[in-house]
Amino acid sequence: MAGELGNRLNVAVYVVGGFVRDLLLGRKNLDLDLVVEGDGIAFAYKLAHQLGGRVRQHKKFKTAIIIYINAAGEEERLDVATARLEYYEQPASLPTVELSSIKMDLYRRDFTINALAIQLSHDNFGKLIDFFGAQKDIRDKLIRVLHSLSFVEDPTRILRAIRFETRFEFTIGPQTTKLIKNALHLKLITKLSGTRIFHELQLIFNEVSPYQSLLRMQEFAVLEAIHPSLKLTPAKSHLLKEIEKVLEWYRMLYTKPYPEAWIIYLLGLTSASKQEEVESVLERLHLTASQHNEFMTLRSTVKSTINLLGKIRPEAFSQLYKMLSPIPLEGVLYMMARTKSETVKKNISHYLAYLRNTTLDISGEDLQLLGFPPGPAYGEVLRKTLFAKLDDKVNTRQEQLDFAYR
Ligand code: ATP
Repeated sequence: MAGELGNRLNVAVYVVGGFVRDLLLGRKNLDLDLVVEGDGIAFAYKLAHQLGGRVRQHKKFKTAIIIYINAAGEEERLDVATARLEYYEQPASLPTVELSSIKMDLYRRDFTINALAIQLSHDNFGKLIDFFGAQKDIRDKLIRVLHSLSFVEDPTRILRAIRFETRFEFTIGPQTTKLIKNALHLKLITKLSGTRIFHELQLIFNEVSPYQSLLRMQEFAVLEAIHPSLKLTPAKSHLLKEIEKVLEWYRMLYTKPYPEAWIIYLLGLTSASKQEEVESVLERLHLTASQHNEFMTLRSTVKSTINLLGKIRPEAFSQLYKMLSPIPLEGVLYMMARTKSETVKKNISHYLAYLRNTTLDISGEDLQLLGFPPGPAYGEVLRKTLFAKLDDKVNTRQEQLDFAYR
């Protein structure tokens, strides 16, 4: 549909970036980025009209997002960008410029594998455009930048290179490795805003195998360049590996909500640091005031709870529940990774997989029928009955009613 519209408007339209890369890699990717050689915003409005969607535009960057409902009834987003070059003022040179404007657009991208395009419009529908040898790099499993100033232009690409390397099990090419080392030598990371670093770190922590990326960051001395306290030690490294394992286990439970992985990894990365150092890391990453406060509170809660967990009697599940239920999921998962006691680990996993989801077969309405006067006492009675159920003292609905009525 985008291609046909391009033909009608006489502008070349391409699908670019991650979608094309993943198509060649045989990986699923539903994020479609379009580049239009022409007025991208006008194109987005016309396409949105055909899709029955709406447009959010960003005039300064000549980009737009189309938000529409797909055939399956889900909301989908389509990014539309304009291939930007001054030559729009020189329509006389259109034929040569047409190709070079997409080339310039792709040249601004981070890595060869992300600088692929497929033409959707005109007679070239489906034509793969590869100016920089991306197909060969995909075959050779290489992450390569497009030019030697790439990391100087944008040092976040160092973190992106590591993320893609881990995700696709590729290797950062030798020349690109040299350029990363050079960028670190020039201390370019220190010039980056905390917000941008934090965003890239979050993307790394949301991947399936952040541990491998953390090891690579350590090899390149990226972690200490972000903040000296983040440097890995053997103990921290072990803990981060455990965190990855715990999150993998948790994912297999298929329970929502999913935790915010960055909190757990950052607890691990700062596990050996003093309070002031942790505060300084959070300031470097420019966390919001509430993220900052919540993180610090969680850190101290976890510290005080982890030892108590070791003192719980076997099978005292209501006690375990009372201890863990007020703590945010991220803190519970962190303790599961952090503890050295197999019993505590097993207890936490039992809490997350079963205890946490335990519900009663009776409700406030039943209490009312039993003649309890309505009021806050309901909550207390139900809570006690729940604890009894967790400790296996009451199972059936009748047993729960009897217990509540005692
Ligand atoms: P993912 O699968 O993680 O979403 P993606 O390649 O789609 O990967 P995005 O971050 O959505 O990643 O970026 C879309 C495209 O924009 C990339 O494919 C890349 O071409 C380009 N891009 C993103 N960030 C940068 C950057 N820092 N420098 C240059 N190009 C970038």
